[in-house]
Amino acid sequence: MHIGIVGGGQLGRMIILSGLPLGMRFTVLDPSENCPCAHLGAELVVAALDDAEAIERLGRAVDVLTYEIEHINVDALSALEQDGRRVRPSGETLAVVQDKYEQRRLLHEAGLPGPRFAAIDELDDEALRGFGMPAVQKLRRGGYDGRGVALLAGPESPRLRGASLLEERVAVEKELALVTARDASGVCSSFDVCELEFDPQNNICTRVIAPARVEADTAREAERLGEAAAAAVGCVGICATELFLTTEGRLLINELAPRPHNSGHWTIEGAETGQFEQHLRAVSGLPLGSPRRRGAAVMRNILAEPGSNGAAVVRGLTETLAIPGAHVHLYGKAEARSRRKMGHVTVTAEHLDEALRRAEGIALRIEGERDG
Ligand code: ADP
Repeated sequence: MHIGIVGGGQLGRMIILSGLPLGMRFTVLDPSENCPCAHLGAELVVAALDDAEAIERLGRAVDVLTYEIEHINVDALSALEQDGRRVRPSGETLAVVQDKYEQRRLLHEAGLPGPRFAAIDELDDEALRGFGMPAVQKLRRGGYDGRGVALLAGPESPRLRGASLLEERVAVEKELALVTARDASGVCSSFDVCELEFDPQNNICTRVIAPARVEADTAREAERLGEAAAAAVGCVGICATELFLTTEGRLLINELAPRPHNSGHWTIEGAETGQFEQHLRAVSGLPLGSPRRRGAAVMRNILAEPGSNGAAVVRGLTETLAIPGAHVHLYGKAEARSRRKMGHVTVTAEHLDEALRRAEGIALRIEGERDG
């Protein structure tokens, strides 16, 4: 089976690493010849992510085309599908998810709970007053890792320019994620719901805890919502649903990603089948594996130290590897730039309190050679 992947970042890298043992062959499209998917035994096509011609050429050369990033040319995906080529998740799924407003609207129409929302062309005082505060403004397109999101506490808060989605600001008790694999016949196989922690300064996910410390009813409801959301957007492959558990105990959908997701990295070692292999199984029509959790897992993202700028230098590897149950994943990024995602560490243990305790010892740090 020959798989094409649009995007050559860490998610593509982990897809390849899980597909090689299955005998799969990979061709990756990425603008950088030094991307994390380079030097992995995959063929690399160097092209822009919006290069329709290059994407179409790739889609015609492989058995299945998938993607690891949402900001790609979606028309090329649809053109390939019209030609009978297999693109999974489909161009239609991606088109909906790429536009945060369209995504919200579709989930709302499917009867799934989310914050109150509205579409805004240019956010002026009157529109904001009409909607009410506190609110959250999100650019409809192009945001990621908290970029393109502004928390509007009052009329003086800095706003974003451009077509936006406006949402009520909900009182969040915990952020959760439900990662599911959905096959072409619509059957879902979900990993246990996990808990996400963010750096409050910049909204980047720092830690993922599996299983989430929530009531059994909440976990079941998260699974129902995540699977319904994946079905609503017609996703074939991994679909990750980020959820808010509100201070009143309600679950609301924040957003979806129709691809392997940071909140599912723990499954590589923490579940019987990891999300990357599960994605490959789903998109290529192979049986889904068991998503059963093995013990507990805590995943920490390794971001380049704030202010980093230069060739990546890894510190603390020896101490980290000395932790029982620690699994280190470095993404092969040559340049450390401030807070760039450079790797992650998952620590597994039989029980969560032990995994949390062990994860405290993660000493891995990445900085730039020329820093300071
Ligand atoms: P991104 O796509 O960049 O990850 P999100 O839509 O997930 O953006 O928003 C980033 C973060 O902002 C969320 O993880 C959450 O902490 C906060 N946030 C987003 N929407 C809301 C909301 N409606 N109410 C409260 N907090 C929110």
